[in-house]
Amino acid sequence: MSQLRAAAGRGLRRSGGRAAPPAGQCRKGASSRGGTPAPAPAPPPAQHLFSDPAEIEALRGNLLAWYDKCKRDLPWRTLAAAETDADRRAYAVWVSEIMLQQTQVATVIDYYNRWMQKWPTLQALAQASLEEVNELWAGLGYYSRGKRLQEAARKVVSELAGRMPRTAEDLQKLLPGVGRYTAGAIASISYGQATGVVDGNVIRVLCRLRCIGADSSSPAVIDRLWDMANALVDRSRPGDFNQALMELGATVCVPKAPLCGECPVKQHCRARSRVEKELAFASQKLFGKPAPVPDVEDCGVGSCPLCPPAAEPWDSSLGVTNFPRKAAKKQPRAVRTATCVLERRGCHGAPEYLIVQRPSSGLLAGLWEFPSLTLAQDLQEEKQREALADHLQAWTGRPVAARNLRLVGEVIHIFSHIHQTYVVYSLPLDGDVTLDPALSPSRWVTEEEFHASAVSTAMKKVLKAHEKQRGKESSPGKGSKRKRGAKPQGAGSTCPGTQLSLRAFLQAPTAP
Ligand code: SF4
Repeated sequence: MSQLRAAAGRGLRRSGGRAAPPAGQCRKGASSRGGTPAPAPAPPPAQHLFSDPAEIEALRGNLLAWYDKCKRDLPWRTLAAAETDADRRAYAVWVSEIMLQQTQVATVIDYYNRWMQKWPTLQALAQASLEEVNELWAGLGYYSRGKRLQEAARKVVSELAGRMPRTAEDLQKLLPGVGRYTAGAIASISYGQATGVVDGNVIRVLCRLRCIGADSSSPAVIDRLWDMANALVDRSRPGDFNQALMELGATVCVPKAPLCGECPVKQHCRARSRVEKELAFASQKLFGKPAPVPDVEDCGVGSCPLCPPAAEPWDSSLGVTNFPRKAAKKQPRAVRTATCVLERRGCHGAPEYLIVQRPSSGLLAGLWEFPSLTLAQDLQEEKQREALADHLQAWTGRPVAARNLRLVGEVIHIFSHIHQTYVVYSLPLDGDVTLDPALSPSRWVTEEEFHASAVSTAMKKVLKAHEKQRGKESSPGKGSKRKRGAKPQGAGSTCPGTQLSLRAFLQAPTAP
């Protein structure tokens, strides 16, 4: 337990060695006045800490027993448990942790299985091309994660002789894309290092267990939560303990309707205890019985660094979901982009689409898309059509008449920090087309090839909108929709005689 005491004490040292008040109370901090030096910030009140070794032992035991009984069977857990080679085990955990960032478990499972089948080792991944990585990652979002994972694998192979760093500190220091959380997860699960992890699930559970209502994304609170996670982690089963804490947050202590009745650590939960006290007080009051005022006060308003801010006190109607709290998110930036589905008939009449590759850095780096152009805000439709027509000229080598672009509609896609609106146009080509090799990489693809390429989910939505529109135009009232991937016999971009020149099309009479 000495580590626990040490961890609790670290806060005291940081804040000037002042003693914490007794459990259940918070210190009202003194303020600086009249030019006197500001006092050191108050230490974290005991109410927000785990300071009783016996309680910590009980919490660990309860949580691990629940995990052993209730944990979900997930492919990365099975792999990590069965793999005897430490490097392969760490790689298997690493891939899962990178995929699980910002993505649901249910979505990740299929991607993970395909990835591990294709690249079962670091060495195999190091030899893959970025194009292959992007293709497999397509649809998982946050594409730079896959790219960085591959870069890091190459580094391990070329600079570290294929040996993964063996501690959380070294993993974070030596591997690009591996942050504190991922390093802690790999080290605890793969190597048994007694180090904690703090992710969104852990933040929620810890904030509820200890009534932490200050902004959970602030560095001060995050720092405190890391101290807490490191102090709590079970010394003999750190990997299982960390996974149990995250599993609890994912399946029981969920954001909106936590299942407190089924929670294995409910007896240690101060948020739940606060709710129960309030309920008991309310029911006694209802029956007219004298009841002591419940001991549910926040710490000194405005001074406790971990309590809810004074402007947003505890709200009884929210119960335990009062915690955690975050500062209001910054509104995502609005971006409008004009994009054009350039379509031609391949052999046997199957449609083919022109896709071009994005730059190798920045948003959606290296992915393929329909020729696109970022638009100035509030541009009139006529102007955006003209701008897109100008832009397409780069691909066609000849002027494109704006009036030939058909407006399909708008497709909205939300990235983490961008509210993206694609204004979708289409341009059917009836004549010869020659692609200019001097431009960014581009190619014609069938529908099936499009879906197998490294294209973003947003571009898949764009194609869907285009196909819907085309279906309506070509056979109103009839189900002419072709099943995805069911191309007519012989169709495909490799058919002979279909790499045509656009000149003939541009010279041909055009529809109004
Ligand atoms: Fe979360 Fe409820 Fe368990 Fe507390 S008792 S940790 S709020 S599920």
